Amino acid sequence: MSAIWHPFTQHALMPEQIAVERTEGAYLYTRDGKRIIDAISSWWVNVHGHNHPKIVAAVREQLGRLDQVIFAGFTHEPAEQLAAKLIEITAPELTRVFFSDSGSTAVEVALKMALGYFTHRGKPRSGIATFEHAYHGDTVGTMSVGGKSVFNAAYEPLLFDVHRLPFPDKGAEHLTIEAFETLAKSGDIAALIVEPLVLGAGGMLMYGPEVLRALHTVCRRHGVLFIADEVMTGWGRTGTRFACDQAGITPDIICLSKGLTSGSLPLAVTLSTEDIYQAFYSPDRAKTFFHSSSFTGNPLACAAANASLALWDEEPVMERIQQLHAWQAEALTHFAARPDVENARHTGTIMAFDIRVDDPGYLSGIGPKLYRFSLEHGVLLRPLGQTLYMLPPYCLSRNDLDAIVATLDRALDAVRDGTLE
Ligand SMILES: *Cc1c(COP(=O)(O)O)cnc(C)c1O
Repeated sequence: MSAIWHPFTQHALMPEQIAVERTEGAYLYTRDGKRIIDAISSWWVNVHGHNHPKIVAAVREQLGRLDQVIFAGFTHEPAEQLAAKLIEITAPELTRVFFSDSGSTAVEVALKMALGYFTHRGKPRSGIATFEHAYHGDTVGTMSVGGKSVFNAAYEPLLFDVHRLPFPDKGAEHLTIEAFETLAKSGDIAALIVEPLVLGAGGMLMYGPEVLRALHTVCRRHGVLFIADEVMTGWGRTGTRFACDQAGITPDIICLSKGLTSGSLPLAVTLSTEDIYQAFYSPDRAKTFFHSSSFTGNPLACAAANASLALWDEEPVMERIQQLHAWQAEALTHFAARPDVENARHTGTIMAFDIRVDDPGYLSGIGPKLYRFSLEHGVLLRPLGQTLYMLPPYCLSRNDLDAIVATLDRALDAVRDGTLE
């Protein structure tokens, strides 16, 4: 028996984990000789496909030279190159790059930057506004700014208070914007944190760029910092390099991780404006930004990220994204026509729909059944309750997309016929 305690895994119900030996492109190869299509990019991290030869080569090349070095007082070429590139491809207003190693940490850093900004300016604010159903990570700070759910219910008494805005449902967007305007007027709101365009773990909930634009305007009007958590939506997921691009807005702080290294090594960055950086910049050592992770700016991860970013220029990545979007749109039309499907939705390369069930929610009984069924048919999907979604690497072939669609269809038929175990 393995000693490993796996993430988001109820071991009492899922005693066996699948041993993966090798990955390539959109495929996982298991120890018992099966090939699985990775329809969720290994938890949303993969972009260009697994084990891309250029990323592999870049990490190999880096490994023999500089593996890890303390990042306080020291720097290195892979991090400098990456920071310069990130500054270039985001907005001109974002001038500073803080490294860390996971999406959760990137968000913690963003929150600390925002609160520290007001404190160091001598005008402390402590309010944080978030969306209902938001997900920003699993550390205590990021759970606090996440929507209340089964994920964080056990820790509720220890989470700090935040202001939750209603999710901008279609046709009711003004309620979100008005609620935020009222809140922001109080003068104590330091920051608004959002997952732009798509709320991931909250159920692949989608809303339009005009909402982002309106919220951004309210932020500007009341001096509230706008934090974009693009940990999932970044790197082309929503059809543009960053989701905020579609709204034509520049956040004050942006959090990036997952696809930054094309999902090959753990790395995250939090980018800020010069204004925020300057609030900490002082001969006063007490104003230092006191945050680090041991592996901040790991050179191997930076080398992987540099190689991944270069692929955006060397390969037709945007074309792949557009192609994938078009194929998914066809598939979605097909599913939307089924009587057992509702809320069919699509942004960039994220396609989702809900299955009509009697017990909706993350713990809906249908989720684990669909998970097992699709795996038995060679497809990795991880339904969020009754929400089925597809979020594949951009190298997915038409054949593989068709295989995913066929598997989903069979799974839905089995649900309808009551034969899904
Ligand atoms: C996955 C995710 C995180 C957390 O990232 P980790 O690397 O798992 O810590 C934060 N925000 C969003 C929007 C995410 O999807």
